Amino acid sequence: MSDNANKPIKGGEFIIRDTEHKDIFIPENWTEEQQMIAQMCDDFISAEVLPHIDRIDKMEEGLMPSIMEKAGELGLLGMSVPEELGGLGVDFKTSLLATERLANGYSFSVAYGAHTGIGTLPLLYYGNDEQKSKYIPKLASGEWKAAYCLTEPGSGSDANSGKTKAILNEEGTHYIINGQKMWITNAGFANLFTVFAKIDDDDKLTAFLVEADSEGISLNPEEKKMGIKGSSTRQVFFNNVKVPVENLLSTRENGFKIALNILNIGRIKLAAGVMGGAKQAITDGVRYAAEREQFGRSISKYGAIRYKLAESAIQTFVVESAIYRAGQNIDDAIAGLVADGMEKGEATLKGIELFAPECAILKVAGSETLDYVVDEAVQIFGGMGYSAESTVERAYRDARINRIFEGTNEINRLLTVDMVLRRAMKGELDLMGPAMQVANELMSIPDFGDKPEGTFANEISALKGFKKTILMVAGSAVQKLMQSIAKEQEVLMNIADMSIWTYLAESALLRTQQMIELKGEENCEVQIAMVKTYFYDIADKIKKSGKDALNSFAEGDELKMMLMGLKRFTKTESHNPKEARQKIALAIIENNEYCF
Ligand SMILES: Cc1cc2nc3c(=O)[nH]c(=O)nc-3n(C[C@H](O)[C@H](O)[C@H](O)COP(=O)(O)OP(=O)(O)OC[C@H]3O[C@@H](n4cnc5c(N)ncnc54)[C@H](O)[C@@H]3O)c2cc1C
Repeated sequence: MSDNANKPIKGGEFIIRDTEHKDIFIPENWTEEQQMIAQMCDDFISAEVLPHIDRIDKMEEGLMPSIMEKAGELGLLGMSVPEELGGLGVDFKTSLLATERLANGYSFSVAYGAHTGIGTLPLLYYGNDEQKSKYIPKLASGEWKAAYCLTEPGSGSDANSGKTKAILNEEGTHYIINGQKMWITNAGFANLFTVFAKIDDDDKLTAFLVEADSEGISLNPEEKKMGIKGSSTRQVFFNNVKVPVENLLSTRENGFKIALNILNIGRIKLAAGVMGGAKQAITDGVRYAAEREQFGRSISKYGAIRYKLAESAIQTFVVESAIYRAGQNIDDAIAGLVADGMEKGEATLKGIELFAPECAILKVAGSETLDYVVDEAVQIFGGMGYSAESTVERAYRDARINRIFEGTNEINRLLTVDMVLRRAMKGELDLMGPAMQVANELMSIPDFGDKPEGTFANEISALKGFKKTILMVAGSAVQKLMQSIAKEQEVLMNIADMSIWTYLAESALLRTQQMIELKGEENCEVQIAMVKTYFYDIADKIKKSGKDALNSFAEGDELKMMLMGLKRFTKTESHNPKEARQKIALAIIENNEYCF
């Protein structure tokens, strides 16, 4: 692995570079102030959202906007907004913490996320001073609500293909917008739309700030959805809508870039939110399991139920470790850019863009973890899990959307690999050097020397092997498939999955190593069990994905040699997963909640 000891880590570089455990942020190190913000979010959800959740899901007129306004009064809508524009101006990872803790509000959390994320941030990061001072304070206070209009009936994942048009009027004072947008969150009560449209016959989108009461805007009725039923989702029609030229956001044809950059932020925030939801579902599950008796015993005593609790906790813990690790990397990148003289808003965007591969990884990992956790929570509840009266029934339905919006998980998997390979092609990441080293290693006698020592000796070795596997598979795929690699989606999905598991595993390992230093090994036994079980599990998964990929493009002796390498790189040492999961489940049962 490359040796850049003192250089800050780059996005995507985890595949070729090792990180010291002291160099990552871990959630155990939240400051008192950050914990107070988290508590404020918890209190808000308990007092202002959960008591009204049925009424919210029935879309009671005016209820969601009034809750948003209360959130605004407390400053919760202005976490990322600088103080001079009426916000709290917290750093990036603290905004992730707030997102995590506000995630337990079901449909409210979606309205909150859309307003503060895709609704507010394009303007905050790309608006000029007049635009920002006109709208941002109103959005931060909750007086105005925001929505983001990108998707169209014929343009979803292929977001730049939209047909909505903007034409400058003869006087040169207004753009006239015509078109149709679909699936627009908060549309029913938003005052400000960020609308993406193409000017004349442009190739790329331009973004506009459009006030919702402009003449010519109309809405379809609310969509009838599987979940997040209290979240307003409507089609928005623009029929000769006059938008003042000063409401063009950023520059002509910069809209697609804005959309992509804002989605990077949305992806890691979505991950923080779903991780908060997963913690709550585990807590709901363990509380029900403790109360429910069958065959004369609490169901929490059964190994089958303990497995579900433990596995849910492991996946949540590893995702959380990776989210805040990336959050700190982003904060560090922003600080570095500001120190070099870049303006804060621009630095924030750039800092997040640098870690765009991690944002895509976290979106996929977070949303799939939540789906696993809520599914098992419903199962723990048995028949009651299928009743509309249980909390987990709502959680199960509400969870599903997260794999679809903010870029589907397929698109995010493709992007993860695409972004890393592009950076390698541009010379920003040296993937090819380490990939060649691995290729050479395949042809030499295995070196069994210098085995790491200590609690995580096996996992440290395994991590090196996982990274070698990614390099071997990706390196040979690039060599064999050349330009056509972009079309080989099955192989790209395999590489994405291996990268996702490796990033999560490394993050949880580093977090636990740091925790051991803080609290002593005897106080981290459960976390150690989680890390070891995760490594044990993914070694087989990485092996399977690697095998699928290699068998799809390699052949003959070369294939044989790589399959032998794969076996060596994903070899696991003995581990007792039953005992480990029992230990993890017992900790959750004793605490009667998710407790890591
Ligand atoms: C409840 C809800 C709220 C939403 N809120 C908003 C909002 O506020 N603003 C907004 O602008 N949009 C919003 N969306 C839209 C959302 O972002 C899109 O639904 C999403 O981007 C997917 O687009 P699509 O639905 O057209 O699916 P499609 O793009 O048609 O995808 C269908 C399937 O094909 C796959 N696919 C597509 N292209 C490829 C490819 N190149 N390779 C491999 N697989 C591919 C997808 O992964 C998916 O599995 C919302 C959607 C929903 C359901």
